Amino acid sequence: MFLTITATGTPERPATDLGFLLHKHPDNAQAFSTSYGTAHVIYPEASVERCTAALLLEVDAVALVRRGKGKGRGGAPDAALAQYVNDRPYAASSLLAVALSAVFSSAMKGQCNARPELPARPLPLRVEVPALPARGGADLVRELFEPLGWTVTVEAVALDAEFPEWGDSRYVRLVLESARLTLSEALRHLYVLLPVLDDAKHYWVSSDEVDKLLRAGEGWLPDHQEQKLITSRYLSRRWSLTREALERLELVRLAEADDSAVEEIDNAVAEEPEDTEAVDGAQERTVSLAVQRRDAILAALHASGAARVLDLGCGQGQLVQALLKDTRFDEIVGVDVSMRALTVASRRLKLDRMGERQSARVKLIQGSLAYTDKRLKGYDAAVLSEVIEHLDVPRLPALEYAVFGSARPKTVLVTTPNVEYNVRWETLPAGHSRHGDHRFEWTREEFRAWAVRVAQRHGYGVEFTPVGPDEPEVGPPTQMATFTITTAALTAKEEKAA
Ligand code: SAH
Repeated sequence: MFLTITATGTPERPATDLGFLLHKHPDNAQAFSTSYGTAHVIYPEASVERCTAALLLEVDAVALVRRGKGKGRGGAPDAALAQYVNDRPYAASSLLAVALSAVFSSAMKGQCNARPELPARPLPLRVEVPALPARGGADLVRELFEPLGWTVTVEAVALDAEFPEWGDSRYVRLVLESARLTLSEALRHLYVLLPVLDDAKHYWVSSDEVDKLLRAGEGWLPDHQEQKLITSRYLSRRWSLTREALERLELVRLAEADDSAVEEIDNAVAEEPEDTEAVDGAQERTVSLAVQRRDAILAALHASGAARVLDLGCGQGQLVQALLKDTRFDEIVGVDVSMRALTVASRRLKLDRMGERQSARVKLIQGSLAYTDKRLKGYDAAVLSEVIEHLDVPRLPALEYAVFGSARPKTVLVTTPNVEYNVRWETLPAGHSRHGDHRFEWTREEFRAWAVRVAQRHGYGVEFTPVGPDEPEVGPPTQMATFTITTAALTAKEEKAA
C-alpha cells in the first residue's frame, strides 16, 4: 500500500525542500509504527531537480481485525475469512490516509520550524497512487480532485493483466499534478479524499472525526461542489455526524463570506465621530466603540477575578491579544466557527513564533457554539462579544445550552448592539441593522428579557452595563450583560416548571 510525492525544483528552489517540509530527511529511511502496522518513508530520489518521498504502509492484518472488533460488522458466512483475506495490504485506502496524518502531521498543518517561510509556498508536485480503490470510478476521481487545482490522470487497473477480457477491477492508478498548491493543501486533500474514494473506513467514526474533517478541509471543502458526497462518505454515512458536519461547513462558508464585512464594520465603527464628540462637544480623539467594548470586557473580567477565559466567537483575535498582554490571565482560549478568522487571529498573535511560556497560555480552536463541546468545560469566564446576533433566533437556545448549560463557566459576559441607538449612527439608514450578517438587533428591553430568562433557567445572576455613551432616550450603543453562576443547573423537571 503506498503513494509517492514528487517535487520538482531549481537551484533557487531545490526540490529537496520537500524533505524539510515533510520533516523527514531524504538520506534516511524511516519507519513509524501506527495502529495498523508500520509506515515507512523512503526517498527513491533526492536531487535539486527532483525529490520523491514514498510512503509505504505495511498493514498488520491481525491488528486490523482486532481494532475492528465490536464494530457490528461481520455476520456473513465468510466474514471471518474476509477479515484476513482482503485488499487492505495492497490498496491505498483510508489506512494510508491515517498513516499520512500520523507521519506527516506537521506538514499537514503547514508547520516547518526549520524553514518557516516554506509551508505557505506552492510547489510543483506530483502525487502517484498506483492502486487506489475508487468507488464511483474515474469520473468521480476527476470530479473530486480537478476543482481543487489538480491535473488528474486516472487509469483503470485490469482485474488481471493476463486476462483483459475479465474487465477492470475497482482500482485505478492515480496521478495528480499541480504547481499551484502547497504541500499542506495537497496532503489534506489526500487525507480526506482517499478514504472518500475507498468508501470503507476501517476505524471507528466518532464525533471528533467531524473536527478532523473540518480541519483537513480548511480552505477547500466549504466550497467544493461534491461537499455532500465527501462529507457523507468520509463519515461512513453516519447521518447525524454528516448533518452536523454539513451544518458546520455552511456556517464556515457564511462566516467566511462575512469576514470582510466584520472588518468593514469595525473600521466604520472606529471612524464614527459621534461616540464622544456628540456628548462632550469637545474635539478630543474618539475612542472607538470596539475599544470601549474591549475595555468594558477587561474591567468585568478583572472584577470577576477570572484567570482562565474563553473568548467564544473570537473572530480575528483582538480580544485574545488584549487578554494575552495581561498577566492576570493564565489561560485564554479563542473559539470560532470560521477557519479564516482563526487563521487571521493566529497570524495576529504570531502563534508560530511565540515563546513556549506565552504559547502555553493561549489556544485557538475551531468549533460551533451551537453544539456542546467538552473542551469548553471548567473555565472561570466566557466572553461572547458581538456574537449572539450572528445566530438565527431559532439557533439561540442551542448556544444557550452549550454555554450556560454544558460549559458552565462561573462568569459569562455577553455584549450585543442596542438597536435603539441606531438612530444616532448618521450613516445608518432608518430600520437597518449595523451589519449585514446580524440576524437580529435587540432593544434594551428585549436583551434584558432574554438575559433574565437564560439566567433563571441555568442558575446564574445577571447585571447590565452600558458600553459607550448612555443616552437618556436611546441608551448606549452596546449593551453588556454579566452573568454570575449562583447554583447548580436546574434539573430538566425544574426547568419545565420554570
Ligand atoms: N468577538 C469578536 C467577533 C465578533 S463577529 C468581536 O467582538 O469583535 C462574530 C463572530 O462569531 C465571527 O467571527 C463568527 O465567525 C463567529 N460565529 C458566528 N456564529 C458562530 C457559531 N455558531 N459558533 C462559533 N462562532 C460563531
